[in-house]
Amino acid sequence: MACAIASFSNSYARLPEHFFARLDPTPVAKPGLIVLNRPLAQDLALDIDAVDGDALAQIFTGNIIPSGAEPICMAYAGHQFGSFVPQLGDGRAILMGEVFDRSGVRRDIQLKGAGRTPFSRRGDGRAALGPVLREYLVSEAMHALGIAATRALAAVTTGEPVFRETPLPGAILTRVAASHVRVGTFEYFAARGDQEAIRRLSDYVLDRHYPGAKDAERPHLALLQVIARRQAALVSSWMQVGFVHGVMNTDNMAVSGETIDFGPCAFIEAYDPAAVFSSIDELGRYAFGNQARAAQWNIARLAEALLPLIDPDRKRAIELAQPVITEFPTWYEHEWIAGMRSKLGLELAQDGDLELIRGLLDAMQANQADFTLTFRRLCDAAADGDDAGPRALFADPGAYDRWAVLWRNRLQSEAGSPAQRAQAMRRVNPAVIPRNHRVEQALRAAVEREDFAPFSELLAVLSRPYEEQGAYLAYAAPAQAGERILQTFCGT
Ligand code: AMP
Ligand code: MG
Repeated sequence: MACAIASFSNSYARLPEHFFARLDPTPVAKPGLIVLNRPLAQDLALDIDAVDGDALAQIFTGNIIPSGAEPICMAYAGHQFGSFVPQLGDGRAILMGEVFDRSGVRRDIQLKGAGRTPFSRRGDGRAALGPVLREYLVSEAMHALGIAATRALAAVTTGEPVFRETPLPGAILTRVAASHVRVGTFEYFAARGDQEAIRRLSDYVLDRHYPGAKDAERPHLALLQVIARRQAALVSSWMQVGFVHGVMNTDNMAVSGETIDFGPCAFIEAYDPAAVFSSIDELGRYAFGNQARAAQWNIARLAEALLPLIDPDRKRAIELAQPVITEFPTWYEHEWIAGMRSKLGLELAQDGDLELIRGLLDAMQANQADFTLTFRRLCDAAADGDDAGPRALFADPGAYDRWAVLWRNRLQSEAGSPAQRAQAMRRVNPAVIPRNHRVEQALRAAVEREDFAPFSELLAVLSRPYEEQGAYLAYAAPAQAGERILQTFCGT
């Protein structure tokens, strides 16, 4: 059946054949549409209005391949928890093709959970409903928070069970990304000594994401640098909202600078740099407070893959690339302090700001203060000078009071009225984030009772994170003692 919902323009499928494998999704028994992201479909200029729900479900399970799609699964490698795996690749994801969105940006449309591929190894190529809905919720929440992230276009059920510890309902996520090129894609070719492929891939990434770097004296060095800066900014933005990615392997780091692969991700509640949620991160390698270091480590792996193209003389290449790795923490810190200043309502940069920021975080940590609520209530405190809201979040309210004296002193050097300041702060300090227990509740209702209402409601609340949503105030509240989620799972 011919079905034209998009004007595909597929560039990755034009790259050399050993960059990917061509294959169609494996059809599923009984496609059922759970959710379609209509605003995103509009942005992508998809022609879906005339398509009924059944046909949409067929398209987003891969049972129907829209005309112009050229399904491929991409080859990549990756360092997983520090160990190199020379071949990973899309083991359960199929890139259907690329479209231009309404602002002219090329975007990938990928089905995740679409069946076995040559890269599946022992996996079944499928995805379970819970992780699909989790990625849908969290990636859309990140986007609404203003953080670069892949998007969720649709979620469908397959009508087939997937077997994990127990049988679970199968599902497929349609993911939209600026591209799916990862640090691990470069490593794949580097491990094979395939410099020509690295050159082609670099040209591709430069053209698609960083055309400004093409004219640099050393484009591959410029590419490394711009990717590193993007990652520094990205991880900083995670730190502003308490996001723990959970599995920052090099195969889960997109060179576009988007957050990708929402497996065991979670949000901190009480501020704690050592927070780890992922069941497989036993050593805390990807703990909340380690994320900038993990990103730097990954960028060093990218640098290694690019070395031969940076300069044929290896020693010279290392000399040139090293500053990127060394300066990464400075770039990160610069982004982070700027973000934290905004969260505190500070527009000027002054000496002592870092100490002021650290002082609050230390007090929060020592007093189990909820990260999101503290900053949100600081907005009110900035507006009316009343500290009752934030101080109540501290086990010892006196710890807050001691800090607040310093903050109010510092605010005196700022222009702008308290009302303006509070308004600006409310644009960077969310009222709601995807609280882990809320996400879990929504997933459980869907998986155990086929009740998608909690998912839909949570999704709607998370799409307006900076607004005070009166009817949904409960979503802003931290987990009660009995509700707290201490561990998350990849769910693959
Ligand atoms: P992830 O942990 O989801 O980032 O995946 C790591 C690697 O395992 C990637 O190569 C995935 O394609 C592959 N993978 C994960 N789950 C499955 C699955 N159910 N079937 C086949 N491959 C999988
Ligand atoms: Mg992955």
